[in-house]
Amino acid sequence: MHIVYLSLGTNLGDKEQNLLSAITEIDRRIGSVRAQSAFLSTEPWGFESEHTFLNAAVCVETELSPNALLHATQQIERDMGRTQKSVDGKYHDRIIDIDILLYDDLHINTKKLTIPHPRMYERDFVLIPLREILPQKN
Ligand code: ADP
Ligand code: MG
Repeated sequence: MHIVYLSLGTNLGDKEQNLLSAITEIDRRIGSVRAQSAFLSTEPWGFESEHTFLNAAVCVETELSPNALLHATQQIERDMGRTQKSVDGKYHDRIIDIDILLYDDLHINTKKLTIPHPRMYERDFVLIPLREILPQKN
């Protein structure tokens, strides 16, 4: 069994419902959701948009390998209606984005997958929800 932390973001439609649906699908297809942060409202990061984001982080117990996990999160994104991918750092409005932040204490660096997520440490909308659900270290 592996412990993974995922970051969720949405800035289109019924954002609260999008996060709730994504969490339901994560629990169904990936594994038991062990912890869930509060939903955090944030400004778009890295691109211009009139649509603000709603972000969250979840901790999940899974049997999936890192690659299978990436496929599963991308399948959920597609099934929920996400069409555009971000290419070369160009971001778009999105119904749902699911990023893998941590996978046990693994470090992975392949073309498709970098874990820990390379940009997580500079983004409050990732770090604030993540800190809420990480085990306390004191
Ligand atoms: P972003 O999340 O940066 O807005 P996308 O969700 O469109 O962009 O993902 C772009 C690519 O990032 C994916 O095709 C995936 O292969 C890659 N990727 C690399 N590392 C990760 C990770 N830790 N979690 C999710 N996707 C990742
Ligand atoms: Mg993503």
